[in-house]
Amino acid sequence: MLETPENVILETFEAQKAYFATHKTKSVSFRLEQLKKLQKSIKKNQTKIEEALWKDLHKSPEEAYLAEISIVLNEIEYHILNLKHWAKTKRTSTPLHLRPSSSKVIYEPLGVALLIAPWNYPFQLMMNTLIGAISGGCCSILKPSPDAPIIAKLMEEMIVANFEPEYIRLLQGGKDTNTVLLQQKFDVIFFTGSSRVGKIVMKAAAEHLTPVILELGGKSPCIVDKNANLDVAARRIAWGKLINSGQTCIAPDYLFAHASIKDKLLAKISEEIEKMYGKNPQESKYYPRIVNERAHQRLQGMLRQGTIHSGGTFDEADLYISPTIIDDVKEEFDVMQEEIFGPILPVLSYENINEAIDYINKNEKPLAFYYFGKNSQAKEVLYKTSSGGGCVNDTLLHIANHHLPFGGVGNSGLGKYHGHNSFLAFTNQRAIVSTPTWIDLPFKYVPFRFYKWIKRIV
Ligand code: NAD
Repeated sequence: MLETPENVILETFEAQKAYFATHKTKSVSFRLEQLKKLQKSIKKNQTKIEEALWKDLHKSPEEAYLAEISIVLNEIEYHILNLKHWAKTKRTSTPLHLRPSSSKVIYEPLGVALLIAPWNYPFQLMMNTLIGAISGGCCSILKPSPDAPIIAKLMEEMIVANFEPEYIRLLQGGKDTNTVLLQQKFDVIFFTGSSRVGKIVMKAAAEHLTPVILELGGKSPCIVDKNANLDVAARRIAWGKLINSGQTCIAPDYLFAHASIKDKLLAKISEEIEKMYGKNPQESKYYPRIVNERAHQRLQGMLRQGTIHSGGTFDEADLYISPTIIDDVKEEFDVMQEEIFGPILPVLSYENINEAIDYINKNEKPLAFYYFGKNSQAKEVLYKTSSGGGCVNDTLLHIANHHLPFGGVGNSGLGKYHGHNSFLAFTNQRAIVSTPTWIDLPFKYVPFRFYKWIKRIV
């Protein structure tokens, strides 16, 4: 793997610090100009982006557009429309005892940002964080995943063609490059990846007290209750699980089905899979591959316990694993110990919803949470559990709404982004009180001569 030499990393970092100090990135018109440049470049390179995602992940152009490119384009458009309003200094009210002072919040760019992305949605996750950094008025160093090398190279070319390296630069590499990057005193670090590496990032950031946004993973549960619409649930679960062959941070990781409908539901999910990918998904142009051999072997290991309900076949040379449902799963099975990140759906069942709730609550807080059933019951289940986000009677959709904050909680992440939250992630909300000098009320001064009186109003 090609790592970026240390001297290049240090030079880039110093150049970006110096560029940020010129204050050029702070002007809103400058930021809008950069967002428009990025937008234009993405539109121009759309076919190349789709080709790169096909080569790296066997992702179809349709899936590449819907799950990556369109999400990024919508995000840019939303920032272009709203940035002026977001970046404007906002007056707040001032309590009586502080009058005649006035108060305001200034949205100030944090500085130089480090953006680290994973390989599964390599374009969307790198670009969406960059949009936030541009919008927030920061300089950025981007570090894509070496496991999706073709799109990483294309993104580098797009960045070089549009931005000065002292403003935005993409550095290639893996762990070694990250290790050197993480030793620098960035003003903000935005990391998307596993909880394991998230801890490494947070430890490194703690050395400099650098703020972090951590977009991590975990095991996202999907509950199907006895009164759910099973046809719709089956279709939406099959879709959400198999987009990108299950290599989606918010994919339903495992299924909790009410015992009375479980068999019917599993039969329907298998039918839906066949409708979407045909009898042999290996031949479907819509079915992506597992990212590499290591990941493939890890997934093979998960097929050894439980009863294979459907699927269960694989071809390591082609990095293919068939969509697989595993029934009769026990909590102690390997497949229930870590995030699956592949096209395998283990199934647990329950008689009473509290069994599912207790299981979810005794494990790490998930990134997403899906409930299929009646809205009234959904309310109670949401009230008794926790997750970064989720859907009722659907899967994945919450990620596509830029009006919603996206992110995890606890083990699945720290901080939120998308839309306005992306702007806020890269800005310091600087709180300022301005006090007039034409009057200087004596109340606050020592020796507190008006203490008895002032105590009543503060
Ligand atoms: P990863 O944590 O292995 O890698 C993420 C990034 O960290 C990559 O750029 C990689 O080069 C770098 N890295 C790897 N090991 C490192 C180390 N020891 N020190 C420093 N840097 C290191 O994750 P991945 O395999 O690329 O992606 C899969 C994970 O990402 C899953 O857990 C998934 O749930 C999560 N994810 C989360 C989101 C989200 O939005 N919350 C989105 C996509 C993926």
